[in-house]
Amino acid sequence: MNYQQLLDEIASEVRPFLGQGKVADYIPALARVPGGQFGMALATVEGEVFGTGDWQTPFSVQSVTKVFTLALVLAAEGDALWRRVGREPSGNPFNSLVQLEYEKGIPRNPFINAGALVVTDRLLTQTGDAFGALRDFLRAEAGSAGIDADPEVARSEREHGHRNAALAHFLASCRNLENDVDVVLDHYFRQCALRMHCGELARATLFLARHGLRADGRRFFSRSEAKRMNAVMLTCGTYDAAGDFAYRVGLPGKSGVGGGIVAVIPGRCALCVWGPELDRSGNSVAGVEALDRFTTRTGWSVF
Ligand code: GLU
Repeated sequence: MNYQQLLDEIASEVRPFLGQGKVADYIPALARVPGGQFGMALATVEGEVFGTGDWQTPFSVQSVTKVFTLALVLAAEGDALWRRVGREPSGNPFNSLVQLEYEKGIPRNPFINAGALVVTDRLLTQTGDAFGALRDFLRAEAGSAGIDADPEVARSEREHGHRNAALAHFLASCRNLENDVDVVLDHYFRQCALRMHCGELARATLFLARHGLRADGRRFFSRSEAKRMNAVMLTCGTYDAAGDFAYRVGLPGKSGVGGGIVAVIPGRCALCVWGPELDRSGNSVAGVEALDRFTTRTGWSVF
């Protein structure tokens, strides 16, 4: 398989899709990101990395970080987490308050905001520094010591974070947060504000393609935990469009409102695509299109 040629061809095929969709505008720092950009990277389990387009342009990782906090918590405590958060698709917007109330403070899954706040809270209890643990893991797996949060994005997340604050306070009222609400929110906002490029994110996601092995060959979690993580990504990883993503792409994936999507082909490679213009569900238009073409051309969906 000539990966480089394949990625370059896909990048030129998705060009007509650039300009479709809308850049996230809930904070000024994201609204300013120029549309029309597209990058795609592929990291093989053997350690090779291929990229095309704007694959080395850093962007705001946002909800894609939820994959890595979940992995860190599951690696440390296994199934105990599932007493505090479910693993079913939510069928509601990612920041919904209503569902959390009628389900008595147990978020439907770890990838909606309420669930991610519970995961960050657990990581904070386990490590004393949830953001630091996440950043260090990403630096080690991506092999990039410079990975960090964008302070301006983190500040804006905080200033516009009323809904996340409401979710966190509601969780606390249901005794589903262990740490101080403001401290959990601070770690969560910095987590969302991490900046990485497609190559770094593809490399950082490889532990899921390697069935739980880290970049240095150490076992991070078991093969069956890697399988479970991939399953949660497949069913809950792309907002309200997880069904459509499975239908079109057929891979475990996680998207963020910065326009990045990571996807896993177990045993083979990890992919990251980025295009800041989002569809109505919050997924990158060009990114989904590129992944759709990738699995169609290679036949490498999990189905
Ligand atoms: N910072 C965003 C929020 O918590 C993340 C949204 C996302 O990427 O899904 O609202």
